[in-house]
Amino acid sequence: MTTVLGCIADDFTGATDLAGLLARSGVRVSLRIGVPTEPPFDTGPFEVIALKSRTAPVAEAVEETRAALAWLRKAGANRFFWKYCSTFDSTMEGNIGPVAEALMADLGAEQTIYCPAFPENGRSIFMGNLFVGQQLLAESPMKDHPLTPMRDSNLMRLLEPQVTKPVGLASRLTVAGGATALRAELEKMKMDGIAHVIVDAVAEEDLAIIAQACQDMPLITGGSAVAMPLPTLYLADGTLAADAPKVPTPKVVDEAIILSGSCSDMTNAQVAEYIAQGSPSYRLDPIALTQTGADPVLAWLSEQDLGKAPLIYATAAPSKVKAVQEKFGVTAVGELIEQTLAACAVAARDAGARRIIVAGGETSGAVTKALDVTQLDIGVEIAPGVPWTFCHSQGYQIALTLKSGNFGTKTFFADAQAKLSNL
Ligand code: ADP
Repeated sequence: MTTVLGCIADDFTGATDLAGLLARSGVRVSLRIGVPTEPPFDTGPFEVIALKSRTAPVAEAVEETRAALAWLRKAGANRFFWKYCSTFDSTMEGNIGPVAEALMADLGAEQTIYCPAFPENGRSIFMGNLFVGQQLLAESPMKDHPLTPMRDSNLMRLLEPQVTKPVGLASRLTVAGGATALRAELEKMKMDGIAHVIVDAVAEEDLAIIAQACQDMPLITGGSAVAMPLPTLYLADGTLAADAPKVPTPKVVDEAIILSGSCSDMTNAQVAEYIAQGSPSYRLDPIALTQTGADPVLAWLSEQDLGKAPLIYATAAPSKVKAVQEKFGVTAVGELIEQTLAACAVAARDAGARRIIVAGGETSGAVTKALDVTQLDIGVEIAPGVPWTFCHSQGYQIALTLKSGNFGTKTFFADAQAKLSNL
């Protein structure tokens, strides 16, 4: 069907976050990994394209995003959402501002808003200053981020050097006046030539007002939270038909595999809990792996009953990870494990696994690539920010969940399976 809102995210987990929030409305959300090479097919009312452009050179990020926009326009969208991180991750050069200006130019849009606030996750904006919890952005751990250190908390000052047109602020005082007041203020600013408007938001109610005031803008930019009210608003004003396609709930057989490459505290707890429940498991030893390759784990896997959802994990405590990294190098050992888990995903699929649970952001990237998955439909949420997704791999329909780092609770692996069985 014709796409109502075309979304572009500057990284993969940002895209799943946005897609998951939109899907809370119950309306179908389709996520594509990278700009599709084919023309639009089987499109949903909400399409999200995941790019990897957050820290790419400006020209590359602009080009990729424009290509994504062109594809979404072909899918029929005439409203667009540009999603970046709720901590406004960018450098003096970009990429948030230059990408937004390029999108505006292509769309002929005179004005857009910037609202990275995500109150549920402690990101709020007041008088243009971004807070992480109770700290100003520049006093939060983001000040030391390896790729995009955030040394200023003021979004106007951060955005100005990244754009060519004037930047302004719609403050909380305006937002508190409601959607009509905010729309009037934006209109006034547009008359004054202000193309880029930072919008304050400290609570969920603010985001509802902002979304309502801006629902007909050709381009909205921000974190995922300001997009969340849009499906309901579109259903209310008829932009989206009441019988719009719903979040799918297909029956997927029990056969499952769990692959864990994350070493976060929460994933360590999840792995320990799953093993303690008596589930079959195989620990990948990185040192042994450098000597034997994937053969031993693949041999183990071939003897498993996939109905018992076996777990293969490299997950280890930080001290162990550090020791191995020092010996073999961070990238080399990381890639070796990712590729091994990806090979296990393919072998499990070929052996009949139709539920694939993956822990780890980078690990998820390697697994989706190996499974040749480029399009996912968002399904039921397992934990906040982690939905099941449904996709095709070599012609098989599979359910896939991709959990990054610290998401989920201790019982995530069992919770995930229960969610599907209860559909
Ligand atoms: P997260 O989402 O928690 O950051 P990622 O998958 O993005 O998880 O990153 C974890 C990285 O650590 C991957 O590159 C993975 O291959 C690597 N890794 C996993 N287990 C080990 C281990 N035991 N020793 C060293 N590196 C590991």
